[in-house]
Amino acid sequence: ASQKGLGLNWERYEKQQPQDGFLRLGLSCPYGCMQGPCRIDPYGRGADRGICGLDRDAMAAASLLRLTLQGVMEAMHLHRSDHYGAEIAWTAPLDKKAAAVMEKFGGAPLSTREIIESAIMLSRPSATPEAIVRQSLRLAILGIGLAEADRKPENSSGFSDCRAGYGLLAGDAITIGIAGAIPEALVRALMEETAGSKNPEVRLISLGDWIPAGGVLLPIVCTSGEAETTFASGRFNLLLAGHGIDPGIPALCTKLKVPLVSSVDNPKAAAIIKQARAAFDRRTPASFTPDATLIGKGRLSLGAVDVETALQDGQSSKIALLGGADTLLQSLGHLPVELAKALRGENHAVASWGDAALWMVKADLPVGILEANEGPLTAVRVLAAKGKLSALKGICFTGLKDCRELAFALGLAALGLKVSVAVPLPLWGSEKVCTTLRENLAAAGGHLTHFDHPAKADEILNWFLRS
Ligand code: SF4
Repeated sequence: ASQKGLGLNWERYEKQQPQDGFLRLGLSCPYGCMQGPCRIDPYGRGADRGICGLDRDAMAAASLLRLTLQGVMEAMHLHRSDHYGAEIAWTAPLDKKAAAVMEKFGGAPLSTREIIESAIMLSRPSATPEAIVRQSLRLAILGIGLAEADRKPENSSGFSDCRAGYGLLAGDAITIGIAGAIPEALVRALMEETAGSKNPEVRLISLGDWIPAGGVLLPIVCTSGEAETTFASGRFNLLLAGHGIDPGIPALCTKLKVPLVSSVDNPKAAAIIKQARAAFDRRTPASFTPDATLIGKGRLSLGAVDVETALQDGQSSKIALLGGADTLLQSLGHLPVELAKALRGENHAVASWGDAALWMVKADLPVGILEANEGPLTAVRVLAAKGKLSALKGICFTGLKDCRELAFALGLAALGLKVSVAVPLPLWGSEKVCTTLRENLAAAGGHLTHFDHPAKADEILNWFLRS
């Protein structure tokens, strides 16, 4: 890519260093205030309060609430929860757990009204750090409740085989790269149009997203962190871009002169394929020649029975959930693969989701694979229903991509589970907020371990085995 003059996410990441230390610590004011922006010096050499008198504890607490609020709104969109004011009706097996922890966080039942209350709390700073942290936890539990309300019927079952790796690009074929959220109807139509295509074959390949269509998953060539590098290989004849795609990939299309189709324009499958075919006919040879054997295989478990199977590994009586998005703070794939190997060596069954699961599939590790958005929650639900939650030795998020995932991790901890996040959270600017959060979670029987640095594999392994 550098020989072609293509800048990728790696270079942009390096140019962004060091990233804003105030924001990273939660000390850049998150209030909806037009008298700022104010920041507080973490070392006590500069401002120790905002213009209005806000101190570091309330600022860091409000940062947590701001991120959690964003995450829960993303969850509302994902779970199509547009009934404002609807009270969360918990169902078994998490209903009793939810009722017990809500007693610790104010008692009042949860509804989507919490979202407006949180937004009002973030308009001007008057609430205490303790109240703000508690509101963050209520919101995070609401995020879990929204996912529960949208869950599949208890007796649903099924799995999807998945294939992942650069080997999917081997050979000569019309290759359509797909990234972002694409309407399932469009993916199905494309699959129907391309089924049985030969000489040349037409391939639909995901660039890091888990894209279901009609009970199967599109093959995935790479993780999300590798998507730009993979696309820069010159092996793609068209990009179909959906909501949520990073702007770096469409920008590569322009530089590589690859046609770009946006799913928001409501394109027709036949027209997409026609455009890809025309681009294929005028292609120049790509220098990247992938090895066809570089394809890992796995099985995504969807129904309760299949998830239960995914949580078993020989005689292992302990279960570790380890998943999440790529992050450029860490060497890609290192944490998921090394930890999965080490945990299996320590007699843990491992199940994963998201990019982390793709790394494990590519490494041919025999792990359970869970749905990308709800992975750990589906496992928790199955274990709770079987009375086997004590076998769960922890849930580790190896990376976070968006606020929904942060709220999800926080919500699982608030439900009384042992959770860790391997990337730093913007809380370290206030010891009081870290302590308040820890004490609130402990009262509900939960833990959220987080680090002030990108965690190393042995730190996470110790956390699973010894904390
Ligand atoms: S709320 Fe206070 S600390 Fe925040 S930007 Fe406004 S004046 Fe500054």
